Amino acid sequence: AEGTPLLALDDVRVNYGGIKALKGISLQVFPGEIVALIGANGAGKTTTLKAIAGLLPLASGSIRFCGEPLVGKATEDLVAAGISLAPEGRAIFPNLTVRENLELGAYLHRDAKTMRETIEDVTKLFPRLGERMTQEGGTLSGGEQQMLAIGRALMARPTLLLLDEPSLGIAPKLVQQIFEAIKQIAASGVTILVVEQNTRIALASSHRAYVLRTGEIALSGESKVLAKDPEIQAAYLGG
Ligand code: ATP
Repeated sequence: AEGTPLLALDDVRVNYGGIKALKGISLQVFPGEIVALIGANGAGKTTTLKAIAGLLPLASGSIRFCGEPLVGKATEDLVAAGISLAPEGRAIFPNLTVRENLELGAYLHRDAKTMRETIEDVTKLFPRLGERMTQEGGTLSGGEQQMLAIGRALMARPTLLLLDEPSLGIAPKLVQQIFEAIKQIAASGVTILVVEQNTRIALASSHRAYVLRTGEIALSGESKVLAKDPEIQAAYLGG
């Protein structure tokens, strides 16, 4: 990782009332990378993504995207700038069809041609969604809803895709498929920051990773190096 980072967090602190959730996080994501943010429950992974997506105020520190400070920008401005978040918990619209869910993700690219092309890209990536375009989102399986949440985030044609726990509550076989799709998304030129509790797949699927521990970066480095680290193996990979 070298050159100018696409995303740079510098000493970011976030509090929930008196609780210090992030105690000075610094990290960089370079163009073309898949970077994983791993760590135990409550370490601050989701909080970090929300801070980047402009959903939480910072107590201090800075977040830059393409060198420009992000702090204070509204979420729709971040989307326009090229940052798209696929949130945890498959936050799709259950009563809307797959197609309608995808179309809602495209609110900045509503012309018919771009919409058609982007839906085509998403269904190439997730053929299951293509087969279920008229099905209501709420009737999809957990894994399919996760695909839809990622697909909807892609409809904004982001430069940087933020993914929150794509493996959450999903059968192991589908987890593999989703991470294969994440690699394809990266290969198509989208930079990815992925929060993941499944340390094994996160390290196997990313270039670099940061390990969060109670609101601080405890370790960082190349994912294949971290996967062999005895401390990481003991704490997160079951020995
Ligand atoms: P998980 O993997 O369980 O989702 P996480 O690493 O994403 O965990 P966060 O959700 O970022 O962790 O939470 C970090 C800390 O901040 C936790 O101690 C959590 O209880 C606390 N926290 C999160 N949201 C709030 C909130 N709205 N109000 C108060 N505390 C919060």
